[in-house]
Amino acid sequence: FQLNMEDLERGDELGRGNYGTVTKVLHTPTGVTMALKEIRLELDNAKLNAIIMELDVLHRTASSPHIVDFYGAFFVETCVYYCMEYMDGGSLDTLANFSFGETVPALHPGPEDEEEVVWQGVPEDVLARIAGSTVKGLKFLKDELGVIHRDVKPTNVLINHRGHIKLCDFGVSGQLEKSIAKTNIGCQTYMAPERISGEHQNTVGTYTVSSDVWSLGLSIIEIAIGRYPYPPEAYSNILAQLKTIIQDDAPTLPADRYSPEACEWVASCLVKAPGGRATYAELLEHEFIQRDEIRAESGDAVDMAGWLKKALKFREAKIVHTQTLAAAKVPSGH
Ligand code: ATP
Ligand code: MG
Repeated sequence: FQLNMEDLERGDELGRGNYGTVTKVLHTPTGVTMALKEIRLELDNAKLNAIIMELDVLHRTASSPHIVDFYGAFFVETCVYYCMEYMDGGSLDTLANFSFGETVPALHPGPEDEEEVVWQGVPEDVLARIAGSTVKGLKFLKDELGVIHRDVKPTNVLINHRGHIKLCDFGVSGQLEKSIAKTNIGCQTYMAPERISGEHQNTVGTYTVSSDVWSLGLSIIEIAIGRYPYPPEAYSNILAQLKTIIQDDAPTLPADRYSPEACEWVASCLVKAPGGRATYAELLEHEFIQRDEIRAESGDAVDMAGWLKKALKFREAKIVHTQTLAAAKVPSGH
């Protein structure tokens, strides 16, 4: 069926990126809840049509449990609208951006419940599931669709209440990529060193699969430690940050919280020379991922839904606590 704006009932805004907004919508004819991404572009109809046609490729391909479902795309005036599977847990950047051991008062303390909620971070088994699912998603894109993701980062790794991890926002449309022309690279870059130093970093041709592997490694560390892995002084200034990525040693997983295998896995993604990075097949065969696979096969899979619940509970309590603190500090005289 053909999607159009009239059939979509707008709900909450799910988030805002550099190029548009994502909104929860209800497709009234089918009753399916979707995520609607709006991308503003100044383009003529021919280009917009080309983008829609390229996106429609997604309709004709097999689906993967690690890629968000695509429902269709359309445009209104100069905006492209893209409907995809709604992931009710949101993206991992908003669920794991806390410091290990951080403590806030519980929302509903009482005789039955604890007084405080402590952030226990992302345990290794959960991290392995996130990493494995992401690699499977990336491998599917490459093997089945011949597509390189090009924008691997925690905001593009989504989770739902069943604990399933799926990727979104991959570079399926070359025309769309070109039109978005990422002039604004933001203050946190997941770009591999070769892309930063490359002459034509925005052209599609210079991007290889191993550039995604770098971004994957960086994203997994960010999810594990709850913040962008390069030190804050490195990103007060974007040029200084890019220089750091090229010159300094790559970040590592904290060895006191993760096994040598987990650390080694991440390190094999963050090799500076693109040719030295692990391939998707190697990443999947690695002990770090295999341990999770074996557990799942023996019916003892990691409780991802349970972890999501804990993360949501902590986040809720932290939001309320932050608001309480802010309310207590109302400036006088205003
Ligand atoms: P950028 O603009 O650099 O790509 P971004 O990924 O954060 O950054 P968007 O892709 O516009 O920007 O997404 C905004 C936010 O919307 C995301 O951070 C994510 O939390 C949320 N989001 C995106 N897609 C979905 C979805 N399918 N289901 C639920 N939430 C989503
Ligand atoms: Mg995104």
